[in-house]
Amino acid sequence: MITRIDHLGIAVRSLEASIPYYERALGLKCEHREEVASQQVRTAFFHVGEVHLELLEPMSPESPVAKFIEKNGEGVHHVAFATTDIAGQLDQARAAGARLIHEVPFEGAAGKLVAFLHPRSTFGVLTEFCAPKP
Ligand code: ZN
Repeated sequence: MITRIDHLGIAVRSLEASIPYYERALGLKCEHREEVASQQVRTAFFHVGEVHLELLEPMSPESPVAKFIEKNGEGVHHVAFATTDIAGQLDQARAAGARLIHEVPFEGAAGKLVAFLHPRSTFGVLTEFCAPKP
């Protein structure tokens, strides 16, 4: 079951360049930074109430985020839904005809299990499910 929006992923070319915008122009505080080797990204998190913003900077040209920026420029990259059962959520999406990028959840930032649905099957929104690691 989806319980809330966990975070919005935002693709940026540079954390160093973009973090000051969120801190100075919006007055948010960068709470956490982390490299996610599996996705070849550096991340920075901001709390906005219950929701987080996750800035994503590619670590290499092979990173999916680098390819996204090449194609679309910087901007909103994905919407992440917190779910109580990530495997069940993937089953439900698959049964409803959504295309899974990841059949098996993997470890994302902040030690959570994550998996993505392909934007071509979700009306253009790269969709992430995330759940705390059991
Ligand atoms: Zn995410």
